[in-house]
Amino acid sequence: MINTLVFASSNENKIAEIKSLLPSNYQLLSSHELGLKEEIPETGDTLEGNALMKARYIYERTSKACFADDTGLEVLSLGGRPGVYSARYAGEERSADNNMKKLLSELEGSSNRQAQFRTAIAYINLKGEAFLFEGKVEGLISTELKGNEGFGYDPIFLPEGLNQSFAQMSLADKNAMSHRARAFAAFIHFLETQKS
Ligand code: IMP
Repeated sequence: MINTLVFASSNENKIAEIKSLLPSNYQLLSSHELGLKEEIPETGDTLEGNALMKARYIYERTSKACFADDTGLEVLSLGGRPGVYSARYAGEERSADNNMKKLLSELEGSSNRQAQFRTAIAYINLKGEAFLFEGKVEGLISTELKGNEGFGYDPIFLPEGLNQSFAQMSLADKNAMSHRARAFAAFIHFLETQKS
């Protein structure tokens, strides 16, 4: 039996990445494909809160099983910032370069550069019950930008035990260890065990 899941996103790259992660008995429809083209509210102050808010928004409008994700880069010496504010860290001037510039200047001279990427996924089943999943990868913030692959904070994130940034890795190598892939693995495992 093919199970339909709606993903609360209009980001084509993310939709393609998640389609490639889902087992073949799942059909992924994006909220965008279902005609929900407005910006989905994400005004929570935690990753979990935002993921739930987005998933509920879609469930209320489609009554289909659906899920949403939210990711942040959490820096230990900054009390977990930028965290849920990762996309807009540089405020009005937000861009991947400006966000990284702000973070590097805040960490200038700091010997504690520990950080983690964390993804929260909220899933709402057909009955309207909500479930949360998490994936994270620990690492260090480099002192300068390294590499041209990936997006966001990839050029300054060195995954634990490796002397290269996410932006110096192939997409396949990054996906093998990324926060998002780990959160999706937990989510898919849950879906698969629910069926049996
Ligand atoms: P989103 O919740 O997936 O949209 O992620 C929020 C923000 O976190 C993005 O705009 C990026 O700044 C950052 N981010 C999320 N995932 C990654 C990643 O895999 N590499 C680098 N930055 C990321």
